[in-house]
Amino acid sequence: MMHPLPDTATMYNALLQKDSTFEGIFIVGVKTTGIFCRPTCTARKPKKEHVDFFRTPQEALQRGYRPCKICKPLSQKGIIPDWLQALLAEVDRTPGIRLKDADIKQRGLDPNRVRRWFQQHHGMTFQSYLRALRIGQAFGRIRYGEKVIDAAFESGYESLSGFTESFKNIIGFSPNQSQHRNAITITRLLTPLGPMLAGATEHGICLLEFIDRRMLETQLRRLQHLLQAACVPGHHAHFSALDQQLKEYFAGSRMNFDLPLVIPGTPFQQSVWNGLGMIPYGTTRSYQEQAEFLNIPYAVRAVAKANGDNRIAIIIPCHRVIGKNGKLIGYGGGLWRKEYLLNHEFKHRRN
Ligand SMILES: [Zn+2]
Repeated sequence: MMHPLPDTATMYNALLQKDSTFEGIFIVGVKTTGIFCRPTCTARKPKKEHVDFFRTPQEALQRGYRPCKICKPLSQKGIIPDWLQALLAEVDRTPGIRLKDADIKQRGLDPNRVRRWFQQHHGMTFQSYLRALRIGQAFGRIRYGEKVIDAAFESGYESLSGFTESFKNIIGFSPNQSQHRNAITITRLLTPLGPMLAGATEHGICLLEFIDRRMLETQLRRLQHLLQAACVPGHHAHFSALDQQLKEYFAGSRMNFDLPLVIPGTPFQQSVWNGLGMIPYGTTRSYQEQAEFLNIPYAVRAVAKANGDNRIAIIIPCHRVIGKNGKLIGYGGGLWRKEYLLNHEFKHRRN
């Protein structure tokens, strides 16, 4: 059994709005052209009577539709394309790497194509991305006692002032303040429901949210403030474990996550988040039931509010809390994602 489709009116509306929260939830076939698209396709939208909705690209293919050349529904959104893989692998294994356009050409790639991909997926050019990585690495070294001047030269800066300025721009405070600050390493992970932003400190995972989630910026700012930390792009051992466990979760073979979590917040918030972790996989509770479970039956609203403030989606399963009458309400990542997750868990739970 596949996840159920939203009703036609909802899907058609999402199509008109190019609503990215429906990525991975439905695919639309256009009867007049025989082509199928993602919900967010920028091509002109078909009339209501000319659309066919499917759960997956495979279903559309089986019904004789061809993939759209504009939105490329067969290539998962956010995934690293083949032509870019070798370059990114090189960046991963070479700390402090600097690559000019000529170096990119030498590797058989078009620098403009690389720039466009980075603009689209990371919101910055490839050069800015590399610079942010280098500064992030310098930040880490300064925190562990390296002199600022040494970190500056190792990062390829010829002057301390140039380094300090770049550092302030990217990290948000000066290199000299770094010893008393923490780093939140951030990266993007791909899931069947769209790309997610993940954050980790040395102590564990502190963030997992859908990229298009409303309030994501606010969540990030709050987290930086709570941890007295700066966000820097990069890689972290915690991400490999997270990526692996998410893959198992979406394949239906993992019911519980086994990852260290960093959840700064008030004692009340923390007790609510811990309580969420005790709702068994494949089941749901109402806000009222959850408040009773936590022995604070009068605090339903506060429990709901703390649920909404959860920063680690899926792993802290706030999606398992539903409205009184079984209605799905309030999910930052979008209600259809919540429905997908609940159906997925229901389907894979073991009796
Ligand atoms: Zn399309």
